[in-house]
Amino acid sequence: MAANDDYVVGVDMGGTKILAAVINAKGEIVQQAKKATKPKKGADAVIERIARCIREAVDGADLKPSQIRAIGIGSPGPLDPDTGIIIFAPNLGWSNVPLKARLEANLSIPTFVDNDVNVGTLGEYAFGAGQETKNLVGIFVGTGIGGGIILDGKLFHGINKTAGEVGHMIVKANGPRCGCGNFGCLEAVASRTAMTRALRKAILKKGKKSVLTKLNGGNLDLIRSNAIARAVTRGDKPTIKVVRRAAKYLGISVASIVHFLNPEMIVLGGGVVEALGDSLLDPIRKAAAKYALPATMDSVQIVAATLGDNAGVIGASVLARQRLL
Ligand SMILES: [Zn+2]
Repeated sequence: MAANDDYVVGVDMGGTKILAAVINAKGEIVQQAKKATKPKKGADAVIERIARCIREAVDGADLKPSQIRAIGIGSPGPLDPDTGIIIFAPNLGWSNVPLKARLEANLSIPTFVDNDVNVGTLGEYAFGAGQETKNLVGIFVGTGIGGGIILDGKLFHGINKTAGEVGHMIVKANGPRCGCGNFGCLEAVASRTAMTRALRKAILKKGKKSVLTKLNGGNLDLIRSNAIARAVTRGDKPTIKVVRRAAKYLGISVASIVHFLNPEMIVLGGGVVEALGDSLLDPIRKAAAKYALPATMDSVQIVAATLGDNAGVIGASVLARQRLL
């Protein structure tokens, strides 16, 4: 099969939107389609919307479904990547939904499913920041913190398929409570949710002077990553303090990952990292260097993800190709 008629579809499925893209063997997006997820309509309706979104992307690329070799999907989880069953997805209101089987019945194309963060890490490995590596760890910072592990070019899942939960590594014993019920998880001290909590406390409760409220549209109900980034650029003290604290704990986690696995690269992505760039990465690198044992960090690259919003669909296309073999 020639490279220019070797197509797969990558799907990035979230709680609010579904993105489907026809992707060639070079990892280039040929055509894409987008739909609202509308999870309240139930699993049957959402699966039908995913199928329609895929058909639209395929049709837009002037292809027939029979010309698509495979479909890869990055989905919220936990899920079973072997059976393609979504075990539990609170954002979607799903439990035990056989996503793979249902889509294969609908579209007659081999379909493979993995969790969204694993898929994003796979995208960065194959076509993003990690192209020259074989072993890397992805850390994605957003409302929560997720991670993925690539060993020798393949996702590592672990015995219960839960490997890569970097957000629940405990970095501060007796720290703030995490959504998982434990105390002091990385996610509880360094996610955007944790930063928001700390910023609201500093500005609203302690009355610290800050430009953040103005930059965030006059309130602090839901603090956006780009408002945090602009406040940092303006030298806003409370915001800088909160970002530095998050960077410290992300750096501690990076040092622990380096000690434990010594990967070639750690890729940091997600909305917060994208918006803050080096003003978050530099203090993470510094903290990691401070906590890492001598020489363990020497050739480990700590870099920003490069695929941005496309990491999901591109990573899903890589999943489809790898699993098809
Ligand atoms: Zn936790």
